[in-house]
Amino acid sequence: MLDEARRLAPRFAARAAATDRDGTFPVEDFADLRASGFFGLTVPSTLGGGGAGFAEYADVAYELARGNGATALVFNMHASVTGALVGVSDRMAETLGLPHEALAARDEHLKAAAAGSWYAVAMSERGAGSRLSEISTTYRRTEDGYRIAGAKTFCSGAGHADAYLIAARAEDDPAQVSQFLVPAGPGLRVEETWDSLGMRATGSHDLHIDVTVPPAALLGGVEGLALMVAQLAPHWMVASYAAVYVGVARAAVDAAVAHLTERGLTHLPSVRTRIGRADAAVEAAHLAVREAARRVDEKPGDAETKRWVWRAKLLAGTTAAEVAASMLEAAGTSAMRRGNQLERLYRDARAGSLQPATSDVCADWLGVEALGGDPDAGGVTPRW
Ligand SMILES: Cc1cc2nc3c(=O)[nH]c(=O)nc-3n(C[C@H](O)[C@H](O)[C@H](O)COP(=O)(O)OP(=O)(O)OC[C@H]3O[C@@H](n4cnc5c(N)ncnc54)[C@H](O)[C@@H]3O)c2cc1C
Repeated sequence: MLDEARRLAPRFAARAAATDRDGTFPVEDFADLRASGFFGLTVPSTLGGGGAGFAEYADVAYELARGNGATALVFNMHASVTGALVGVSDRMAETLGLPHEALAARDEHLKAAAAGSWYAVAMSERGAGSRLSEISTTYRRTEDGYRIAGAKTFCSGAGHADAYLIAARAEDDPAQVSQFLVPAGPGLRVEETWDSLGMRATGSHDLHIDVTVPPAALLGGVEGLALMVAQLAPHWMVASYAAVYVGVARAAVDAAVAHLTERGLTHLPSVRTRIGRADAAVEAAHLAVREAARRVDEKPGDAETKRWVWRAKLLAGTTAAEVAASMLEAAGTSAMRRGNQLERLYRDARAGSLQPATSDVCADWLGVEALGGDPDAGGVTPRW
């Protein structure tokens, strides 16, 4: 799949200017991803997928993002759903007391992904951001399942996904936050609100929800698992974006080299040092992402693994923004014209630090930990 990602990246890059300009979803990129079997990347081979672990996913995400960060970012949302589902091992299920039906439903969702379905994430809300403990979308039990009602925002791929991971809290017990996988269709309405500075092609619109789903839609089969999963497996919620933004940063360096070569400016000392510093910064961030990913595969949930997850997200976000800004400055005003690759990459890279966990939140988490506190409980506001 890594070779296939490298093959597709130039195709994505060729389409990126148009979808960024118009703020439209990269439909053709997603057709390519489906045709090449990417939606089953992290699904076990026994269920028809590619069986990739977190490190392999991170390598693929980096390559896709070198083509188009927006495409890689939406794909990341899907991979974080399938990856987190795979992360619920039979042993963990036994420990948590998850019912057998929930594991059968998990396998059906994963098989569907391997067969070409893709999932979006509808977690964030206006006013609450991605903090699960503050969301206002609710659900209640009915005779035939659950009734979910509320509104989401920043839902990448809204209107194009086959199903949506929707976070909601129990109407009669607000402390219980659960996640449901809800198929696209009646009961879900997209409001086209996404017109942003960067990552314009992600189509991260608002989603209005008023839907009844069967019991099998409740992930894990037990209510109230969402916050626990966020703390136990932060890599899919915190660090999976990191590889995307390092890929965007590398694309900015490549675009600057091409621009400067074409303009005959490669002899300038200031240009050379900017390229050199950017190259070193991108590789350092990439190494941090790979180290985090390696540890996630080897020791998920380990204290040192968690530290690396937060470090990787922090370094990827800040490096992408700094490198893209420096590359634009090296390339000069001509690279600032609308439609220039560097102009788009500069804006896309800006989003890295803002995605959860934001760079500031990552730094706070690491700082509290380094100072001997409990980073999950010791922030000024709940982490999730
Ligand atoms: C390109 C893009 C695509 C996205 N796609 C999706 C998607 O598909 N699905 C989805 O659900 N969401 C998505 N999001 C939303 C995103 O992931 C966040 O939920 C959202 O950006 C948070 O919104 P907010 O504006 O409320 O900012 P917040 O993240 O709430 O940040 C506001 C400020 O508060 C600070 N802050 C936040 N939490 C804490 C804390 N615990 N402690 C201290 N300070 C804190 C931040 O650092 C920041 O300064 C996407 C975002 C972007 C940029």
